[in-house]
Amino acid sequence: MTSPQAPQSADGLLRPVLSECWDSPQSWTLATYRRFGGYRGLPKALAMPPDDVIALVKDSGLRGRGGAGFPTGMKWQFIPQGDGKPHYLVVNADESEPGTCKDMPLLYANPLSLIEGMAIAAYAIRCSHAFIYLRGETVPVLRRLHHAVQEAYEAGYLGENILGSGFDLDITVHAGAGAYICGEETALLDSLEGRRGQPRLRPPFPALEGLYACPTVVNNVESVASVPGILANGKEWFRGFGSEKSAGHGLFSLSGHVVRPGQYEGGLGITLRQLLEKAGGIRPGHRLKFWTPGGSSTPMLTEEHLDAPLDFEGMAGLGTMLGTRALQIFDETVCVVRAVTRWTEFYAHESCGKCTPCREGTYWLVQLLRDLEAGKGRMADLEKLDDICDNIFGKAFCALGDGATAPITSSLQHFRDEYEAHITGRGCPFDPAASTVWA
Ligand code: NAD
Repeated sequence: MTSPQAPQSADGLLRPVLSECWDSPQSWTLATYRRFGGYRGLPKALAMPPDDVIALVKDSGLRGRGGAGFPTGMKWQFIPQGDGKPHYLVVNADESEPGTCKDMPLLYANPLSLIEGMAIAAYAIRCSHAFIYLRGETVPVLRRLHHAVQEAYEAGYLGENILGSGFDLDITVHAGAGAYICGEETALLDSLEGRRGQPRLRPPFPALEGLYACPTVVNNVESVASVPGILANGKEWFRGFGSEKSAGHGLFSLSGHVVRPGQYEGGLGITLRQLLEKAGGIRPGHRLKFWTPGGSSTPMLTEEHLDAPLDFEGMAGLGTMLGTRALQIFDETVCVVRAVTRWTEFYAHESCGKCTPCREGTYWLVQLLRDLEAGKGRMADLEKLDDICDNIFGKAFCALGDGATAPITSSLQHFRDEYEAHITGRGCPFDPAASTVWA
């Protein structure tokens, strides 16, 4: 976040901002964070009226980085003012979408970008108690977060009368127990309140009735961590990254059959071809078969989509979603039926069971897919897969049901012949050993 210049060239689309300090020694400390320009945004925010902070974030074009891409400033604006109720900020750090692995490295290497962003967001929405709901299995991240919160308190960036502004903020870090459903914002709130995490009916959205039935902003880690840079460098700087309707920078996580898997940060709108150039390409001697733009809940794409802009509009135009920018890359050695079966087993296991379409549907999808992979499938099963997906999509209680159908419907669209080959050939034509992820 140090340089106020936005990148111009295509190559400049890739530029570390949140990840700039990740390779520095002790990157997670306040001293390093300040050295890389940290805590320049908060004093600016505290000198502005809260509504102006909201307007600035709105004008920057920042959209939610947790997958859905809802405009962040607009979400903050939904919080009613003068209602006499406490307002809460809850950071969703329960990252668990298959393939998604950007928030945990961000929190591990640069937790103070989140803590500074939370102070700015809390000030804007008039909140004095904020929460971080963290995926509990990530104990090293939990330790780093506790350390960062403590350092921020000691330096006067949290607690009472922050930087002499009269603004008070406390942050509570809460470790969840590792359930996929608790990443769904209303299930997360139930879990935070001490109940079993299950989604609530929306509306009311959390902005009106969230934690303890009070107005609550639930934001993703990367969304909030992007805010200090906007305050420090301005909305034009942020808009200089990315495309017109998908402004700003984002972390792109490449995994699977690429030479250099990892985190690549740059402007939204970059293409997979450009990212693969930086990541050394597909493993030698192989070619791209299919990929997910934002985790397994986003319909898969193929080689013909290599030049599609990885932004909200570009992905929607292809019938998929940008999602969490978890780019899972599979080469021609991978059986798509096997990969889809594995993802569907995950959704069936993680279904919270509250609604019938998701609970029963994902169970039956797994049975059908396992049969197909084992050579026991029939042509009618393909229609049945489509039919069950149709009975889940848009009919489940929360977005997790829709997500479970994405790998199936999109793979049937792109690779129906491969499903049919499993039926006519009475088994999987692929050698599972050949597709082992290569490092
Ligand atoms: P959504 O589009 O329904 O809502 C997005 C956000 O906007 C929410 O915070 C919601 O409260 C708010 N919102 C939407 N309409 C509103 C309104 N009218 N008034 C006030 N607030 C409103 O999406 P969702 O169901 O919250 O999440 C689905 C997304 O989650 C998917 O796009 C998927 O990519 C992503 N996801 C991410 C992970 C992960 O690990 N990060 C895991 C699973 C799914």
